[in-house]
Amino acid sequence: MSRVYNFSAGPAVLPEPVLKQAAEEMLDYQGTGMSVMEMSHRSKPFQSIIDTAEADLRDLLAIPENYKVLFVQGGATTQFAAIPMNLMKAEGGVADYIVSGSWSKKAFKEAKMYGTANCLASSEDETFSYVPDVDAIKVSPDADYLYICQNETIYGTTYHKLPETGDVPLVSDVSSMFLSEPMDVSKYGVIYGGVQKNVGPAGLAIVIVREDLVREDVLPFTPTLLRWKTMADAGSLYNTPACYTIYICGLVFKWLKEQGGLEGIGKRNHEKAALLYDFLDQSKLFKGTARKEDRSIMNVPFITGDADLDAKFIAEAGENNIANIKGHRSVGGMRASIYNAMPVEGVQYLVDFMAKFEKENA
Ligand SMILES: *Cc1c(COP(=O)(O)O)cnc(C)c1O
Repeated sequence: MSRVYNFSAGPAVLPEPVLKQAAEEMLDYQGTGMSVMEMSHRSKPFQSIIDTAEADLRDLLAIPENYKVLFVQGGATTQFAAIPMNLMKAEGGVADYIVSGSWSKKAFKEAKMYGTANCLASSEDETFSYVPDVDAIKVSPDADYLYICQNETIYGTTYHKLPETGDVPLVSDVSSMFLSEPMDVSKYGVIYGGVQKNVGPAGLAIVIVREDLVREDVLPFTPTLLRWKTMADAGSLYNTPACYTIYICGLVFKWLKEQGGLEGIGKRNHEKAALLYDFLDQSKLFKGTARKEDRSIMNVPFITGDADLDAKFIAEAGENNIANIKGHRSVGGMRASIYNAMPVEGVQYLVDFMAKFEKENA
């Protein structure tokens, strides 16, 4: 068996010990005589899996008591609709958006279907290579929330400072940075993300929402399953959840605790990112595409400036155990997603390979 260094943006690399444990428990989960895939979501063993997962997640992120944790399906994209449905006033709902990449742009477009959505700032003028200046943001006085995508997966930018929103709840899509380092949950109204980037397999989104925002008076046409209250009241078990994905996420949470929690993994993530960015900054061939101050520690897009050379690099990387290094189809070039489960050796291996390629193609 040989495993590659997988730089996929998502679904993405998972910790090897987690995959091994899942393999060991595949046929007989803890003496139940069945796999987690085969058991009822109403059974005792599964109730324990989801309860433990939630408790460990609360521990890792230090989630305050007055926040609900919801395990929902439909990915992050379904929440693009659920957010305005749950948060906009039924009469004249207003939401503010900062558009810093494709994901916030999609969320903004979706919100317009349900009420007034304002784009307060956008970085599309420079192909989303930077995060708009949050100090220049003036939240609309009647806004129901301000929305950001805190780490734009495709363009590799991150907010290193949050906008000041006063009493207006801040809603953040953290899909590609979820659990990458500590964050202060109390600064947000809603934090959510699909887990298939940095946490687990596909099929699950996690929504962390302040209790007062879990409301009865949502937009009247909101489907039962998209009402956060439905999920909160049912402990995420209103209908059949993504049982197996929740189980794997639970194993990842345990693994994260063994890495020293989010402090520990965050320190390692910064070291990994520095390794790659330091190389890019001195390279004469490769160049990072995101503005320096706004760079993500998770997604690192870069180019040579020559599409043919990019293609050659991607092909040769593929022959050398470096998988999924191609940039998003909308921007081209390369992108290294260096999520929690990517070991530092993987980043070092990539940097060494890039240095060798640079020499050979000088
Ligand atoms: C991948 C991604 C999404 C979309 O996630 P799905 O689970 O595929 O709907 C949304 N936001 C960000 C930041 C992403 O990286």
